[in-house]
Amino acid sequence: MNEYFEQQRTFFLRHETKSYAFRKQLLLTLKTTIEQHEEEIKVALRKDLNKHPTESYSTEIGVVLYSLNHALKNLKRWMQPQKVKTPFFNLFSKSYLYQEPKGTVLIIGPYNYPFHLVIEPLIGALAAGNTVILKPSEFTTHTEKVIEKMFQQNFDPAVVKVLCGGKKTTEKLLNLPFDHIFFTGSTRVGGIVYEAAAKRLIPVTLELGGKSPAIVDGTAKLEIAAKRIAFGKMLNAGQTCVAPDYVYVESSVKDTFEEYLIKAFKSMYENDKQQLASIVNQKHFDRLIGLIDKEKIVYGGKTQAEKKHISPTVLSDISWDDAIMQAEIFGPLLPIITFSNIDEVIDTLQKKDKPLATYVFSENKVTKARILNELSFGNGAINDTIMQVASPYLPFGGVGKSGLGAYHGKTSFDTFSHYKSYIKKTTLFDFNPAYPPYQNQEKFIKKLLK
Ligand code: NAD
Repeated sequence: MNEYFEQQRTFFLRHETKSYAFRKQLLLTLKTTIEQHEEEIKVALRKDLNKHPTESYSTEIGVVLYSLNHALKNLKRWMQPQKVKTPFFNLFSKSYLYQEPKGTVLIIGPYNYPFHLVIEPLIGALAAGNTVILKPSEFTTHTEKVIEKMFQQNFDPAVVKVLCGGKKTTEKLLNLPFDHIFFTGSTRVGGIVYEAAAKRLIPVTLELGGKSPAIVDGTAKLEIAAKRIAFGKMLNAGQTCVAPDYVYVESSVKDTFEEYLIKAFKSMYENDKQQLASIVNQKHFDRLIGLIDKEKIVYGGKTQAEKKHISPTVLSDISWDDAIMQAEIFGPLLPIITFSNIDEVIDTLQKKDKPLATYVFSENKVTKARILNELSFGNGAINDTIMQVASPYLPFGGVGKSGLGAYHGKTSFDTFSHYKSYIKKTTLFDFNPAYPPYQNQEKFIKKLLK
C-alpha cells in the first residue's frame, strides 16, 4: 500500500499533472473508459443492488458523464491564474490566485452509489491535477471489481490506483500522509476518518448522512408532492443519502396526502417488481425489518428475504420517540409524522442534528422563506426531492453532522486545489511608507488604511 502511495507521490513531484494537456487527456480517457464499460457497470449494479439498468444509467453513469463533459468544457478557464483587486496600500502591485493541485489524495466510497460516488470526486481530483488512490466500498463487490479492472487497464497506477478491501485496508490507508482525504459514508466512520486525518493535519471532505425531512404544509399541491416524495424515497430502495427520510405533514392534510402517496407508490412500483432495488446485505435488511411497526403500516410492508426486497412501506401516526425516528433509515420505509403549524416545525427541527437535505412542499411564500432562513441543512429543494444533487452549478455537501466541505462542478475542482495567493510588484522604483525608520509616516499610513 505504501509503495502505491510513494509511486504516486514521486510521479506527482515530476509536475506532469500540472499541465492542461495532461489533465484534459486524463478526463478524456476516463470518459471513454466509462463509455466502453457501460454495460458491465450496469450488470454489476444489478448484481450488487438489483438496480434497474435505467436507474443505473441515470443515477450512476449518465450523471458522471455529464459532470465529465462539464469539467472538460471548463477546465482551461478553471486553471487560469485569477487576477483579483489590490488594496491601495499595496501601491504598484497586482494580486493573483494561482491554482495548484493538493498532491496525492485518497477517495473512499460508500456502497449505495458505488460507482457514482467514487467517480464524481475523482473527476474533480484529476481536473485539479492530483494523483489519486480510490477505495470503493467492499459491500458492492461486483461494482468494486469492475472499477478496479477499468483503471488497471486504462490508467497508470502512478496517477490513479484502485485499492479494494474493507475496514483494514482503509485503516492502513488512513496512516499514510495524503494531501487530502475525501470520504463519503456514514457519520460514524466519518468521525474515524476525521480523527485519523487530524493527527497529520490532513484536510478532509466528509460527505455524510442524516435524517432529511420532507415538510408538506396545508397549502402544498399534494398530488405532486406525494409523487415527488415517493420517487425520491424509492430511488435505490431508499438507500440514498439525500432521500427524504420521513414526511412531516400538516395534520389537516395528512389523510389526503397519504392517499396520494399510496397512489404514487402503486403507479410506480406495483406492477413490476424488477423496478425495485434490493437492500445491500442481510445486516441492513434485518435492521430495516426491525424498524417496521406492523400496527402503523398503511401501505406495503411486504418483504422477500431471499431477494432482500422490501416493498415501499408507509408508516402512519409515527411519533418522534418511535425507533424509526432515532437514526437515518436508509431504506424504503417512509414514516409520516404530523405538525399543526410552521412554528412547531421550526422549533422541532432546529433542535435536531443538521440534515444533509431538507425538502419543503408549500405554496406559501412565508413558509418557504422561513424554512430557508431558519433551518440549517446541507442542500435541498422547494417542491421537489433529490434533483438538486445532479447540478454541477450547485455545491453539494452537508453541514454539522451531515458533513464537512462540498463538491460538484467547480466546487470539486476547488476542493482538490490549493490557491496560492501572491502579489507581483514593480521594481522600477521602491516606495513603501511602512519602512523604518518610523518618523512622521503614521498619518499617511492611517490614510492608506482607511
Ligand atoms: P460506511 O461509513 O459504513 O462505509 C464507507 C466507507 O468506509 C467504505 O469504503 C468502508 O470500507 C469504509 N469503512 C467502514 N468502516 C470503517 C472503519 N471502521 N474505518 C475505516 N474505514 C471504514 O458507509 P456505507 O454504509 O457504505 O454508506 C452509507 C452511509 O453513507 C449513509 O449514512 C449515507 O447517508 C452516507 N452517504 C452519504 C453521501 C453523501 O454524499 N453525503 C452519499 C452516499 C452515502
